[in-house]
Amino acid sequence: MVDGAGSRRADVVISEGHVVGVEADVAVPRGATVLDAGGCLVAPGLVDIHTHLRQPGAEEAETVESGARAAALGGFTAVVAMPNTDPPVDSAAVALEVLSLGTGAMCQVAVAGAITMGRAGACLAPIGELASLGVRLFTDDGAGVQDVSVMRRAFEYARGFDVTLAQHCEVDALARGGHMHEGEWSSRLGVPGIPSEAEEMMVARDIALARLTGGRVHFLHISTARSAALVAAAKAEGLAVTAEVTPHHLSLTHAELAGYDPVYKVNPPLRGEVDVRALRAACADGTIDAVATDHAPHAPERKDATLDAAPPGMLGLQTALPVALGALVERAGRAPSDATGDDGWGAMSALDVLGLLSWRPARIAGLAPEHGGDQGGPIEPGAPANICVIDPAATWEVDPARLASRSRNTPWAGRVMTGQVRHTVFRGEPVVVDAGAQR
Ligand SMILES: [Zn+2]
Repeated sequence: MVDGAGSRRADVVISEGHVVGVEADVAVPRGATVLDAGGCLVAPGLVDIHTHLRQPGAEEAETVESGARAAALGGFTAVVAMPNTDPPVDSAAVALEVLSLGTGAMCQVAVAGAITMGRAGACLAPIGELASLGVRLFTDDGAGVQDVSVMRRAFEYARGFDVTLAQHCEVDALARGGHMHEGEWSSRLGVPGIPSEAEEMMVARDIALARLTGGRVHFLHISTARSAALVAAAKAEGLAVTAEVTPHHLSLTHAELAGYDPVYKVNPPLRGEVDVRALRAACADGTIDAVATDHAPHAPERKDATLDAAPPGMLGLQTALPVALGALVERAGRAPSDATGDDGWGAMSALDVLGLLSWRPARIAGLAPEHGGDQGGPIEPGAPANICVIDPAATWEVDPARLASRSRNTPWAGRVMTGQVRHTVFRGEPVVVDAGAQR
């Protein structure tokens, strides 16, 4: 059993939605359901602070129900749905619609609100009204807020509601027209690129705004070595800054685009090997607070297009855990998900990686016990039973046709993953047992 307090060997007893006992060799009460966790890590359920569920507006790609199912199978007991739906989550009505769609889903579905109306970057969304519904994270994700004075006002407005602004860092004027990272491979392939600076300039700008306003900012999916260095410096200065990285930016590089396969088109784009290594190091040294999937389903009729026409994004919920473990944990025989080769990296334990996927993002999203939530552990008597059971040694092959998502745009098709979610318990209910969804 592992949680933020450490790890030990124990049975976990659950009753009526709560953990009631954590002790060695429990006598099984008559009639109890027993989930075998032999050889497994029993951890607080994973929490994804960056999920695109596509509802309302693009139900052909994903729904709250199908996305939550994929999440549960991936070990998540909570996801934060991004607000770039159609219509976007810039009003109480749309936030309530998503929250009500999430009632009865296989994991908790929290919702992020937009920073600006229509995510258009001009007028602030009703952050206070959305905060009163429990919305804790605000972002125009898919786009960064370009206008620095609008962003300054957002910082000042948000401070009054104990909410966090989450930025998709990308300066449009530099990124526009690009389809992959601007570098060696984009020149070789003749594909317009997106320079690292398009991200780094906005990270630097928002750090300056956090300093100016005393506000709090979370950086979504940072992808470059210099972004990580900027975040580290801001933290050293004592600013209220957090950052996440995706499993794919920890494991894949722009070289994957060599065959022009649009499945590798993501935003921010896959970067270079130096960036991948720096992001791994930033996870290990505490600069990066969370691994978040940026699960971005797209229906095949849209994604199976030419590189320039295909929308950016890839699935992530069902592969996040093994990809993150493969990228960050040292073990004999590197995981096949490690596209950058054996560079001697591997300073993290599985416990540390679970922190990046569970209790630390739970706190950023306001879903942890200290904010009145029930996610991210600890696993102790009296705590809500949101738990995932992970077999770190189990191997499985990714078959896109068998993923729970309505979409198929995974870069890991046919790849053998090491590390599997055996069971997921959501508020006391075993929603995934032996890697199978129970409803
Ligand atoms: Zn984004």
